[in-house]
Amino acid sequence: MASNKPLVHRGTKSWWTGDVKTLCGLTIPGRDAKSPWFTSPACPECEAKHKARKGK
Ligand SMILES: [Zn+2]
Repeated sequence: MASNKPLVHRGTKSWWTGDVKTLCGLTIPGRDAKSPWFTSPACPECEAKHKARKGK
């Protein structure tokens, strides 16, 4: 299912490659992972996983 809206994913940036591995399983190339990060709607899958990890 495709969406035109860029979503904010939560993820971990690799120190080695600069790529970002998101909680929902995507890998975003470092050069594509720039600042929309903080201004777009949050990715529901990443949010769910983030909350699950944190515990309630
Ligand atoms: Zn995501």
